[in-house]
Amino acid sequence: MTQTTTPARPKRAAKPNGQWKVDGKAPLNPSEEMKAADNGLNVRQRIEEIYSVQGFDSIDPEDLHGRFRWWGLYTQRAQGIPGGKTATLSPEELEDRYFMMRVRIDGGALSTEQLRVIGQISKDFARDTADLTDRQNVQLHWVDIIDVPEIWRRLESVGLHTTEACGDVPRVILGSPVAGIAKDEIIDPTPVIAEISRRYIGNPEFSNLPRKYKTAITGHPSQDVVHEINDFALIAAQHPELGPGYDLWVGGGPSANPRLGERLGAFVTEEQAPDVWEAVTSIFRDYGYRRLRNRARLKFLLADWGTEKFRQVLQDEYLGYALPDCDLPPQPTEAGDHSGVHEQKDGRFYIGLTVPAGRVSGSKLLALADLVEAKGSTRLRTTPHQKILALDIAHDQIKDFVGEARSLGLEAYPGLLKRSAIACTGIEFCKLAIVDTKDTMIDAVAKIEERLADHDGKLPRALSLHVNGCPNSCARIQTADLGFKGQLITNEAGEQVSGFQVHLGGTLAGRENGEAAMGRTVRGLKVAADDLPDYVERVVKNYSASASEGESFAA
Ligand code: SF4
Repeated sequence: MTQTTTPARPKRAAKPNGQWKVDGKAPLNPSEEMKAADNGLNVRQRIEEIYSVQGFDSIDPEDLHGRFRWWGLYTQRAQGIPGGKTATLSPEELEDRYFMMRVRIDGGALSTEQLRVIGQISKDFARDTADLTDRQNVQLHWVDIIDVPEIWRRLESVGLHTTEACGDVPRVILGSPVAGIAKDEIIDPTPVIAEISRRYIGNPEFSNLPRKYKTAITGHPSQDVVHEINDFALIAAQHPELGPGYDLWVGGGPSANPRLGERLGAFVTEEQAPDVWEAVTSIFRDYGYRRLRNRARLKFLLADWGTEKFRQVLQDEYLGYALPDCDLPPQPTEAGDHSGVHEQKDGRFYIGLTVPAGRVSGSKLLALADLVEAKGSTRLRTTPHQKILALDIAHDQIKDFVGEARSLGLEAYPGLLKRSAIACTGIEFCKLAIVDTKDTMIDAVAKIEERLADHDGKLPRALSLHVNGCPNSCARIQTADLGFKGQLITNEAGEQVSGFQVHLGGTLAGRENGEAAMGRTVRGLKVAADDLPDYVERVVKNYSASASEGESFAA
């Protein structure tokens, strides 16, 4: 009997990933088409010459929902649109005719003059709104397109800008908030941050990347820039022959498919650092995946290549030389949030102030600028923890400064929960949000602190509490002890209400005396927004009853 065999189906060719160096530059999705049609940086001219003159209705939709981001502008959510009911709404129904504007502050370095300009812009053009973000930016809301050129003029007159504050570009460069001043600093990252910013920000060579690209650089032993969740990061390291320099990390990102960055095991000197940034960013531009936006961050390329291949391509194809190996820098022994009063290397002091949920106002920023100047300083720094530092305070001014800052709602000695609580923009202004975040968190922390007034001091250490308004991770919930991801949940009465999926046990370097780790989702562990204070109170009490000093929350 003759056996018949079914012919094998021809293998379907793998779909291209949209890597420019492998697959060519033909755009494979609408975002790539938009970027290929016109560089996002070019929209500035149209904003200045057309849109700000003719008003909101004159704006080309492709600019409005795409290229405006290259200049730090997003339309904000229309007021009163409930969370979770947005899928059927048109952009016109969902969004306001006003903008969120992100002011970029590389390294978080601000003068009182700059702070005053931001504060006055907020009062004149943004209904007195201002939020400190967890990426050292300041965000304004309610900005009208007709005012944008004047806002840019004022910002740029003091060396600030909104260039590439959003979009598929190199975003703000996180820098150690104590760069150049901390007594225990290993290397001052200020020159590297300034040089990367000068060479590459607003440079068309790097203004069409597959997705956003986040950079973090620190020379402080507390590793204070959440480097594990950035695409490119340099943290202080010592080389036995070359002296202080940097340990290179790539490929971190907390949103979809959260992933901690990885060390390439390479040592980078201060002189090499801008070139190495250019090389890694060029790899992302040339080899990054551009077909699917949810697989476009550098972490997906790193996952496929591995660190060995990544380092080899970096050295052979882009740098043209080998980087020396780098030993693992010591784990930090202190939190990198810089809360409280600390002596600087010059004998003066810096004071880290906690701002609940990063929410300030233009008026508050103006008052803070006055206060800092009244105490003889002109320098401040924003931090990746939604805090703000005043630098250069003389010893005999500390007490007054701390007291007067407190009267502005800025705490040098916050409770252990308030200290490490951060929240994203949420439903108030964000079009993607499902639930409220900032007010919910401020309210919950206030309630919990009141209930635990005599308990807070018994906490073995500060617990971090991060709140996101949707499944994205702008408040990096996976890195918190207690992370809350906004969603609608069904309550006992069968009603859909605002709530959160709980993530437990995330940590970054410096908070656990151990390895960084992403928090775990606990299946079915959800909490209604109204029940947040009760839930956190229970967790805090259980934790403080059972944990010893410094013990991991995840343990
Ligand atoms: Fe908006 Fe979601 Fe980001 Fe919060 S996490 S700012 S709700 S996109």
